[in-house]
Amino acid sequence: MIIIMKHGHTPEQREDVIARVKEEGLDVHLSVGEGTTIIGVIGMPILDSLKSAIESRDAVEQVFRVTKRYKLASREFHPESTVIDVDGVKIGGDEVVIMAGPCSVESEEQLMATAKAVSDGGAKVLRGGAFKPRTSPYEFRGMHEDGLKILAQARDEYGLKIITEVMTPADVELVGRYTDIFQIGARNCQNYQLLEEVGRTGKPAMLKRGMAVQYEEWLLLAEYIMAQGNPNVMLCERGVRGFETYTRNIFDLTAIPVVKHLSHLPIIADPSHGTGHWHLIPAMSLASVAAGADGLIVEVHNDPSHAMSDGAQSLKPERFNELVPQLQQIAAAVGRTLAPVEEAVAAD
Ligand code: PEP
Ligand code: MN
Repeated sequence: MIIIMKHGHTPEQREDVIARVKEEGLDVHLSVGEGTTIIGVIGMPILDSLKSAIESRDAVEQVFRVTKRYKLASREFHPESTVIDVDGVKIGGDEVVIMAGPCSVESEEQLMATAKAVSDGGAKVLRGGAFKPRTSPYEFRGMHEDGLKILAQARDEYGLKIITEVMTPADVELVGRYTDIFQIGARNCQNYQLLEEVGRTGKPAMLKRGMAVQYEEWLLLAEYIMAQGNPNVMLCERGVRGFETYTRNIFDLTAIPVVKHLSHLPIIADPSHGTGHWHLIPAMSLASVAAGADGLIVEVHNDPSHAMSDGAQSLKPERFNELVPQLQQIAAAVGRTLAPVEEAVAAD
């Protein structure tokens, strides 16, 4: 942290600032120039409480941080990209991993049909919400444990890994019995107790970006999970709120290379929630892979016209099947791989 003192401050005021810094067990490096005095603070971590305390002093002009507030999630302290091993499916390595499936688990018939389609199409992970955070309490809010059981059945049948949302700390144990990856949704990404509870399980977690969460805040949220001893955190860009109404959210493509730059954690793109329209998903999926995403999470429904949530942004299986070979080409162009589609399916 760098502290710039106001012109004309007194030696007592300077000593007062230095004493406050030393109270935290940190050291200072003083540079007194003609007109400007700068106090460099040496040591970690620098808490916001100290930064604020220094800023509150009359004799202080400005205070800047030079080190990041997040440490475990930072690439500075962990230059190698993290590869999360989800029981054999590696996320964050050379291969771009596709997660696909319906927004909600609605019935055994719907989920099994969609699971077969996405598995045949090249997905390695099946998505499907059993606990749904809905804007209106009158909408379908998920099948809860019955939905988790259907997901587990699809995993056994098709050899897919499962990702499903957990909404409260109290449900972490239940959801953890069924899922391979915890999904922490945009609305709950600032539920600190939920983050810590998921952190204590050690199980892979995908942390979606909240609708108004800045990059630094997002990485500090990941830090909540990691600080409980769980290094298996991936981030998911799913769009933020903006002034445009045509799309559901503003899909922040830039977040992908930014996260790669700031952090070693894998980044997954969710163009479904990012755009809200199925016809925009192919273009934004391709763009996400080109931008360096480690994976995609895409809503696919066997019958979007009857979906109980997010039908308008769900791809039909045929469109998903058309998209995957294009994704393979983009992945190859940026030095990545994408799982080949089974020959039998490619020949269909
Ligand atoms: C979802 O994945 O269906 C979902 C609710 O996503 P988000 O938390 O990004 O809105
Ligand atoms: Mn959805």
